[in-house]
Amino acid sequence: MHLRLVPASPGCGIVFRRTDLDGFQVEATGRNVARVSYATSLMKKGVLISTTEHLLSALIGTGIDNVIVELDNLELPILDGSARPFVEMILQAGIRKQRRPRTYLRIKREVELREGDKFIAVYPADGYSVSYSINFPHALIGQETFRAELSDDDYQRSIAPARTFGSRADERAMRNMGLIRGASRENCIVLTRDGIENPPLRFPNEFVRHKVLDLIGDLALIGRRILGRVVADRAGHAMHTALVSLLLKDRTLWEETALEEAVVSSGKAAHVFADQFA
Ligand SMILES: [Zn+2]
Repeated sequence: MHLRLVPASPGCGIVFRRTDLDGFQVEATGRNVARVSYATSLMKKGVLISTTEHLLSALIGTGIDNVIVELDNLELPILDGSARPFVEMILQAGIRKQRRPRTYLRIKREVELREGDKFIAVYPADGYSVSYSINFPHALIGQETFRAELSDDDYQRSIAPARTFGSRADERAMRNMGLIRGASRENCIVLTRDGIENPPLRFPNEFVRHKVLDLIGDLALIGRRILGRVVADRAGHAMHTALVSLLLKDRTLWEETALEEAVVSSGKAAHVFADQFA
């Protein structure tokens, strides 16, 4: 499994390229969202890109607007279950400023989606912030809330290292769906009945921080930076991407704003060979 980030020109956005399928390209946009359960997948003309959220989150968190993501496989590597290895990869490649104003999607009206006790909303704001609450029936988790402001450099320190989590039962279900082949203690926090199999946690509230990481990655599928305040409660990939679809469909909810700020691309090509991390 080989993943490579390649610099791209302004206006390109984030594009996945399957090098094992003649370079077939799948744009990272809500229009290409395929199926969503434990992870977010994109599909275009039958070509699948699976588990996009952690890399997309890292790209947003490091301010990358334009990049081509080459991979020779349908699933992005899970690595340590967080976005940190992707952030390191991006920083290693370097970031190049491109002289063009960046276009933002400024939320004009509030949007709220509810499904049982799950909730997600976005409200007008001058910056981009994400607030997440979870209430997970487990001795180590329970009720947690975490709020992140994306305009400061907090992402790399307080969000990127947060790992995904699951139980052995989840793992079996994911394997049956063809996801996380080779799931192990190295690539997620494994929950037991009243603790975890692989301590220590990287943060006492690592679980909810990871939900923030996922949400940022899923909202990247809007294709533009957001000016808005996002609030989620017990949501998941399906609700995150439902919000993306709703925003893309209803143009009265937002306007485009160009801010005089350089657009950036990853500097030079950077590689990840997944087996280095296995
Ligand atoms: Zn995740």
